[in-house]
Amino acid sequence: MISIDLSGKTALVLGVTNARSLGWSIGEQLIRAGARVAFSYQGERLKADLDKLTAPFEGTWSEQCDVTVEADLTRLFERVRAEFGGVDYIVHSVAFAPRAAMDGRFVDTTPEDWNTALSVSAYSLVSVARHAEPLLREGGSIVTLTYYASQKVVPKYNVMGVAKAALEASTRYLAYELGKKNVRVNAISAGPMRTVAARSIPGFGSMYDKAAGMSMLGRNATQEEVGKLGLFLLSDMASGITGETTYVDAGYNAMGMQLD
Ligand code: NAD
Repeated sequence: MISIDLSGKTALVLGVTNARSLGWSIGEQLIRAGARVAFSYQGERLKADLDKLTAPFEGTWSEQCDVTVEADLTRLFERVRAEFGGVDYIVHSVAFAPRAAMDGRFVDTTPEDWNTALSVSAYSLVSVARHAEPLLREGGSIVTLTYYASQKVVPKYNVMGVAKAALEASTRYLAYELGKKNVRVNAISAGPMRTVAARSIPGFGSMYDKAAGMSMLGRNATQEEVGKLGLFLLSDMASGITGETTYVDAGYNAMGMQLD
């Protein structure tokens, strides 16, 4: 029987708010596979909820980290070094764009909103990889979370679509460079999921229902399915896969036309 056994492995998941967070979905699968997992959360108000989530799992810990604050990243990775020595897996599950940039027209995107969206949602993968590099063990792996609006126009995603395109390109460049150390970098392109971040997307509810109707499986993918793909991509099962964007969207992205 083939199974994924991550005992002795360590992981850091950045960007968990609650049990619906895609970062949590992947972190939970890593824990169930035997890894020791640390989580980071953006601000102190999220700490209590995260502590409740991680409490049943021995060996987990969490640390505050705003990915745009260099000192936070330094502190987080110092703790990773102190607690784990090194790290095998990194999950980057962080994105933000100001509401105004998604409510309005793309042509009206301000430079400030552009910079915020790209800095938080795309550049942070690069800075996380830079901080992680000295600690990443040979055979290690990074995954990030992206969305189809990077490839095709999804109304209202606006600058977030551009940020996801930058994130996917960054995944390829990082995969090329870290490949020399046998570290893989991949992106998971998830279909719509009901999370806190999704709530900030104007019209998300109707988009969610429409995507389910248009997908090959006639439903949306689930958080658990994102978690399982994350586990697969991070683990040695995916040892030949790097620089890729892999979809977990019930087949939505491969549809070209809807007949009924
Ligand atoms: P979520 O709200 O649970 O997670 C997003 C996380 O980003 C939050 O924990 C938030 O605190 C964190 N974050 C935002 N700005 C930050 C900063 N400056 N520093 C540190 N953390 C910061 O929502 P989610 O849907 O699980 O989002 C996780 C990832 O999945 C995002 O990249 C999102 O774009 C992506 N994604 C989501 C969907 C979906 O439909 N929910 C679909 C495809 C991709």
